[in-house]
Amino acid sequence: MEVKKKDIRALTKEQLREFFVKQGDKAFRGNQVYEWLWQKSAYSFEDMTNISLETRQMLEANFVINHIKVDQMQRSADGTIKNAVRLHDDLIVESVLIPTATRTTACVSSQVGCSLDCRFCATSRLKRMRNLNPDEIYDQVVAIDNESRLYHNRPLSNIVFMGMGEPLMNYNNVLKAIDKITSAEGLGMSPKRIVVSTSGVPKMIRKMADDKVKFKLAVSLHSAIDEIRTSIMPFNATFPLNDLREALQYWYAATKNRITYEYVVWDKINDKRKDAEALVEFCKFAPSKVNLIEYNPIDDGEFQQANSKAIDMYVSVLEAHNITVTVRRSRGKDIDAACGQLANKS
Ligand code: SF4
Repeated sequence: MEVKKKDIRALTKEQLREFFVKQGDKAFRGNQVYEWLWQKSAYSFEDMTNISLETRQMLEANFVINHIKVDQMQRSADGTIKNAVRLHDDLIVESVLIPTATRTTACVSSQVGCSLDCRFCATSRLKRMRNLNPDEIYDQVVAIDNESRLYHNRPLSNIVFMGMGEPLMNYNNVLKAIDKITSAEGLGMSPKRIVVSTSGVPKMIRKMADDKVKFKLAVSLHSAIDEIRTSIMPFNATFPLNDLREALQYWYAATKNRITYEYVVWDKINDKRKDAEALVEFCKFAPSKVNLIEYNPIDDGEFQQANSKAIDMYVSVLEAHNITVTVRRSRGKDIDAACGQLANKS
C-alpha cells in the first residue's frame, strides 16, 4: 500500500529541527530546509542546493511540497493581473494584483468558493469546497510579489483578504498565513499593510480583538438597514446589524483602530438619502472611513451600479458628518478581476 506523504510545510520550524535530530542529523539542517520552504519558496527538494543529495532524497521519500501553481495569468489593460491558482487537489482559486501609482496590492482568497451567500457576488455561486491552508494563502502572496517585481519593478506593498471566501470563516489558517507573511522568516511585511475584509461575523471580530491582531479590519457593509442588508446578504438574518455594531464597538475599544467600511451603492437598492443617513448612524460610534466601491455587474440582473448623483449624495452626507469617504474605481474589469467578479471563469 502506498504511504501518503506528509506536506512538509505543515511542520513548524521546531518540528523540522526535531525531525532532523531523529534522523541522526543536526537540528540546524531543519533551519536550512525551513528557509528554503518559506523565504526562498522552493517548489521542490531538488531546488535546495546547499542540502546534500542524500538528504534531499530522504526528504523526497518522506514528504511532499504542496506548492500552488499559477495555472493561468491574465493581464488587464490597466496593469491588473489575475492569477488562476491550482491547488494540490486540482481545485482552483483566484488572486489579483492591483497596481496604482503608489502601491501594489495583492487581493487574495481564503476559501475555495464561499459559504456565505451575498447575492451580488460571483463567488457566492460557487459552493464552498474547503478552506485554504496557511501555505496556500502564503503562496498566493509570494506569486503576486514575484509578478509585482517582474511587471511593475517593485515589491508588493499591501495585501487585502478580499478574494474568494470569507476570511473569518477560516480564521485560524488566515492568522497562520499572516504570521508567516509578517515574520522575518517569511516575507517580513508589516501587519499594518494587511487588511482582512469581512462581511461581518460578530463572534470572530470579538476574537480578533481578544487576540490583539495587528492587521487592519474592513467590513463589507453595503447597507445599514437590516431589511435591505438581509435581502442582499442573507446571512445578515443570522448576524444582524446590531450584533455587528456591538462587535465592532468591542473591536474599537480594544484596538482604537479606525474602522473601514466597504460599500457599494446600487441602483434602486440603497441609493436613497435614508440609506446614506442610516450608514452615518451606524458608523458614528468610532472613527470610520467609507470606501464607496464601483460595482461590476456579474450578469444583467437587479444589481446595477447607482448613478453618479447617488454617489455624490453619499459623499456629501458622509462628509457633512466628518466621515472620511473615498470613491474607489474598480480595476481589471476586462479580465473579470474586479471586486465581486472572482468566479473561476478563466
Ligand atoms: S462577498 Fe465575500 S463573503 Fe460574500 S459571498 Fe462573496 S466571497 Fe463570500
